[in-house]
Amino acid sequence: MKQQKLFTCQDIAHESEVIQGFCLNFGCQDAKSQFCLQCGFDPKKHTNCKKDLKVFGQIQSFITKFNQYLFELTTQLNKSYQSVKIKYEEFIKELEKMKIQLLKISEYLFQQDYKQIKDNLLIIKECYQFSNNQEEIIKQNQIGTQLQ
Ligand SMILES: [Zn+2]
Ligand SMILES: [Zn+2]
Repeated sequence: MKQQKLFTCQDIAHESEVIQGFCLNFGCQDAKSQFCLQCGFDPKKHTNCKKDLKVFGQIQSFITKFNQYLFELTTQLNKSYQSVKIKYEEFIKELEKMKIQLLKISEYLFQQDYKQIKDNLLIIKECYQFSNNQEEIIKQNQIGTQLQ
């Protein structure tokens, strides 16, 4: 068996009493967070936080639980990342397709290929709307700056 270091209570009245664990209360008013059995029973110590006095075995179980939680969180995060990655790749592909389409439309315009232009009218309308919106945003910004 591994040799265990025994910590004893620093309270003079509890000399040689073994430390059982720690007080885990965030708002603990006691100067010392470690406690021995006698500290645990002392009504003047950890008055409002008796329930937060935890022995080492309990502390270990919190750590195990939190570690399990972190493991689950990592698994969930990986899943989310994978699904975002898939969405990203789909979206990038879509953008690439649109860029190619726009290049083609420019070519149709250059060649005055009316049939093809007409077939692509939907995407041309989208470009038109986008350009209108951009102008609207610029106008609003200008008005905004003038008002300042
Ligand atoms: Zn003590
Ligand atoms: Zn306490």
